[in-house]
Amino acid sequence: MLKFGQALKIVLEDTKPMEWEWVVLSRVHRRVLAEDVTAQNNVPYTDNSAMDGYAIDTDDLKSVPRELRVVGVVACGKSVNKRLKLGEAMAIMTGAPIPEGCNSVVPVEDTERVASGIVRILRQIKPGKNVRYSGEDVRKGEVVLEKGTALGPGELGMLASMGRKRVRVFQKPVVAILVTGNEIIEPGERLRPGKVRDINTFSLRGLVEKFGGVPLPLGIAGDEKVKLLRKMRKGLNSDIMLISGGVSMGRFDFVREALTSLGYRERFWKVAMKPGMPISFGYIGRMPVFGLPGNPVSSMVSFLEFVRPLMMKLVDRAVDLPEISAFLRTPIVKKDNRRHFLRVKLDYRNHKYFASLTGPQGSGILKSMIECDGIAIIPENTKALKVGDRVTVQLID
Ligand code: AMP
Ligand code: MG
Repeated sequence: MLKFGQALKIVLEDTKPMEWEWVVLSRVHRRVLAEDVTAQNNVPYTDNSAMDGYAIDTDDLKSVPRELRVVGVVACGKSVNKRLKLGEAMAIMTGAPIPEGCNSVVPVEDTERVASGIVRILRQIKPGKNVRYSGEDVRKGEVVLEKGTALGPGELGMLASMGRKRVRVFQKPVVAILVTGNEIIEPGERLRPGKVRDINTFSLRGLVEKFGGVPLPLGIAGDEKVKLLRKMRKGLNSDIMLISGGVSMGRFDFVREALTSLGYRERFWKVAMKPGMPISFGYIGRMPVFGLPGNPVSSMVSFLEFVRPLMMKLVDRAVDLPEISAFLRTPIVKKDNRRHFLRVKLDYRNHKYFASLTGPQGSGILKSMIECDGIAIIPENTKALKVGDRVTVQLID
């Protein structure tokens, strides 16, 4: 059977990045940059004061206290053309430009007003003190944000500071979600024996949105080929298609057959992993299609391990989930040669992470997805792990 690593490589090898679009700054939160942003100006633009106080030249403070003539006020939003001479000071507000001839700002607290127009400097100050220099945050010409950056609050602020009204971001991938199974009913329907409420449309929708896509739910298709085909056709213009269920060995698992009649070129079926073994991946035209196993946990884990990396690659982002190393609190038995993805809770003590299984790890135990902080990866050739052994844990939040 295909190893997980080889399968992931196949999923990623033919990915082309999404097209980009212009979006106004106020609407780009959580989008992904499709351009390198180069600074067109220094930030701060000019040297300016970090304090309310008096701009002075430290050459004037051979000894303190020292009285200086106040020759003006620099308020915020104003600039001064006047050049200060020795013996002079200028009152200055935080953020206002430093006048020529000054190299420091004495905070108000270290001064005394002697008479109108005279200030007494009480303490020595080092040259450059309380001055924010032009370009100390950003230098003109520097790349401040790189293509593939997810835009959070700090990035939005930086784009504003760069004077950007609109930004080039990657289009969001539209991800069609089709659920199969004659037993599946809408969440609002009354449960009856043999029926199961549709979980996967909703958990997969959540995952698609969480990783920057636009979900396009196609509904529940049942297990008849004609119905499957009709619903699948509605998703053919998407960027990715997900089909949950119907890809196993069951007598009614017609998904792959239906896909084939739409021109599906399957690249693999079945991966040596747990959960998620009966996964199918291929293309219809240029659209990647995943046949995900129907069990709710399997479908979420296979999404996280295959669909999420693909979505990241579409927008030039890092493909791997962040990982930590943790010490097991629960022993693990494993008899096969598959890669296992176990849901674990983490706690952090004395600078170490400890991982405990969330409880039963069956592929129908959806609670394991709610309670976990991460996914412990148990490699193919590992058989058993004891309490205290180290595991690698992917962080999923
Ligand atoms: P399948 O992959 O079609 O063999 O489905 C495997 C198991 O997952 C079966 O027990 C299905 O009832 C269940 N299942 C499939 N699709 C869903 C769904 N959308 N919501 C909840 N359970 C599902
Ligand atoms: Mg089924």
